[in-house]
Amino acid sequence: MTENAKIGNLREEIISTLIKAGIPSPRLETDIILKHAAPSYPEVNKAESAKAYEMLKRRINHEPLDKIIGEREFYKSVFKVNQDVLTPRPDTEILVEEAINLLKNKSEGTVLDLGTGSGCILLSILKEYPKLRGIGVDISKKALDVAIENAERLGVATRCTFKNCSWTQLKDLDNSTDMIVTNPPYIESDEIANLEEEVKTYDPKIALDGGKDGYQCYKEIAKLAPSMLKKEGYILIEAGIGQAEKIGEIFENEGLVLQKIVQDLGGINRCVILKK
Ligand code: GLN
Repeated sequence: MTENAKIGNLREEIISTLIKAGIPSPRLETDIILKHAAPSYPEVNKAESAKAYEMLKRRINHEPLDKIIGEREFYKSVFKVNQDVLTPRPDTEILVEEAINLLKNKSEGTVLDLGTGSGCILLSILKEYPKLRGIGVDISKKALDVAIENAERLGVATRCTFKNCSWTQLKDLDNSTDMIVTNPPYIESDEIANLEEEVKTYDPKIALDGGKDGYQCYKEIAKLAPSMLKKEGYILIEAGIGQAEKIGEIFENEGLVLQKIVQDLGGINRCVILKK
């Protein structure tokens, strides 16, 4: 086969390889691969087709496309992502929307993100409100490196500090926070092996594992949150499927008041909101 004929078949070849590997949406993913590897497709040079094949090779190993490309859209921005952070999910955007509604008319204040990961929740809020300040906490130094880069990308770095520690080690936050946001690990430890390859192999386990019953982090955060929040401060918590009501109870038992549970676009009770 001549080089030109090979290149002419590139799109079909990528599609059929993705189909054989059982990747959903093979045509859409092929077009995304070509857009990144060979922007002038169907004109393709050798380096571009090599790049497309390299991306294809990673994808058929079930690495998610956003991690191969290194970027993911979330809310109104594009975030850097890699294997050190949980890929931002559309399900989480509801938490950002609710936070933005609650912070309306607030001329100043501090938002604290526990387990910030890529920073997608906190940084989206800061981008919306130029006077707010943020603190992003993560036990993973590598995740924080990504969050710091994203803060710079979104132009909010001067208003944001990052702390590389466990939330249980946070100090000096007594009654000082206007809002806490968190999407902590909430998958039951034994369930992780059953997740799809894209998640269990390429999202960091530390960002998924919520302990034996999945509620370990919620319980820890519930003990800490009331003393970190200002009076009338809010906490917005992402819930896994079927967890929202129990999360509400865990936080109410520590003295916060349940405001509402909000569904994501898929109709799942996704965001639990409480007030001090
Ligand atoms: N929502 C993620 C998933 O479904 C889990 C994120 C988390 O544990 N916070 O895989």
